[in-house]
Amino acid sequence: MGKSDQSANNLFDKIVNLSKRRGFVFQSAEIYGGFRSTYDYGPLGVLLLRNVKEAWWQAMVQQRHDVVGLDAAILSPPQVWEASGHLANFADPLVDCTHCNARHRQDRLVDPNKCPTCGTTGSFTEAREFNLMFKTHAGPMVDSSAEVYLRPETAQGIFTNFVNVLQTSRKKPPFGIAQIGKSFRNEITPGNFVFRTREFEQMEMEFFVPPKDADYWFDYWCEQRLAWYLSLGINADEIRLRPHQSDELSHYSSKTSDLEFRFPWGWDELEGIANRGDFDLSVHAEHSGERLTYFDQANNARYFPYVIEPAAGATRAAMAFLMAAYHEEVVDGNTRTLLRLDPRLAPYKLAVLPLSNKGSLIKIAHEVFDLVKFRWMADYDQTQSIGKRYARQDEIGTPYCVTIDFDTITDGAVTVRERDTRQQQRVAIAEIQGFLAQRLD
Ligand code: ATP
Repeated sequence: MGKSDQSANNLFDKIVNLSKRRGFVFQSAEIYGGFRSTYDYGPLGVLLLRNVKEAWWQAMVQQRHDVVGLDAAILSPPQVWEASGHLANFADPLVDCTHCNARHRQDRLVDPNKCPTCGTTGSFTEAREFNLMFKTHAGPMVDSSAEVYLRPETAQGIFTNFVNVLQTSRKKPPFGIAQIGKSFRNEITPGNFVFRTREFEQMEMEFFVPPKDADYWFDYWCEQRLAWYLSLGINADEIRLRPHQSDELSHYSSKTSDLEFRFPWGWDELEGIANRGDFDLSVHAEHSGERLTYFDQANNARYFPYVIEPAAGATRAAMAFLMAAYHEEVVDGNTRTLLRLDPRLAPYKLAVLPLSNKGSLIKIAHEVFDLVKFRWMADYDQTQSIGKRYARQDEIGTPYCVTIDFDTITDGAVTVRERDTRQQQRVAIAEIQGFLAQRLD
């Protein structure tokens, strides 16, 4: 059965099931009945998520001399959100169904007059603007003077640190500041597993450019970001760039394109790339009274840089990578499930598998594990039949299985099995690091 034979809903259920069964994603607080719309990442999920974030950091920070990193606070005072416009504008239109009491986000309804929960037409209340920010209190006093917010995006921490970074990094436009971290939104309708949750991780980069070059850099980042997903295993027919219509644009944006993935329920956003103009720096300058401009010595001109922002979701991307990697194929009459994850994203790069529980094999297996453990995340598994162990590693996307068998004792070699082709070859233990480095790094 090829991937095209799987119905979309089927794929969604299979990913949710695999995530739970193999330890990628668990419902949060499950032992208490589950806390809706929050999820915990299990032993494999935490590795996948780290790898997604690491691949982003590599491409956006490490491999560029014009981007630096930042890790700003999650808790922030109201002034930041007053200035950014979030207190006034970061809201979704909420409607209630007077028939079944379900709540919906009006702009996401297929038919704005029909309740998708009970099917009643004309039962909605007038839309109310519902602000998505989580509010809490800092310190022992629970009054309005102690109100603080959990950030709904990482971007504002970058704008409020613009001058700090400019002065300490010796960068000048065009340059970027990148950040990965948690954001919080009190979503009206969370759902589709980890696609839309109230707590999630973002990977955002604000690229500051001379205003006249903004169009060039907008196109540049659209291309770069699309290429990033393609390079990590998303097929060209599963991803597209969709420019926003003028009525879709956020209050700060003059131009936005979404990178959309073909999820089982249809095309939906993975990442937004926006030209935010000088909106953010100028409103923060106005509200803080600080000078947030850049002085261009060569042209003796002071200006607010324009900002091009590629804003991605780490948790959403991890789910898309899982869906794109999921394959089933029939081998000798049995269905084999495998995740064809790019090795950079795979939770484990290899699994070390002694064929039997014999002490002599276990000893060598531990030695092999010790040889690779400093460089690659490796699994170690000595129970069950080798066939079952291979099947498990295929299902969690491990590119290589390294088996220590009875011949290893005499010939000092192991069997290396490749996930996608199932091909096996004998490799000397002394050469295993070089063999894997050639294929994994
Ligand atoms: P949407 O229209 O889906 O609510 P958005 O356009 O408001 O999303 P952005 O503010 O552009 O989203 O956020 C950038 C990225 O952060 C999104 O492309 C997505 O990958 C991720 N993201 C946003 N909200 C959520 C959420 N509630 N759960 C998971 N990821 C999210």
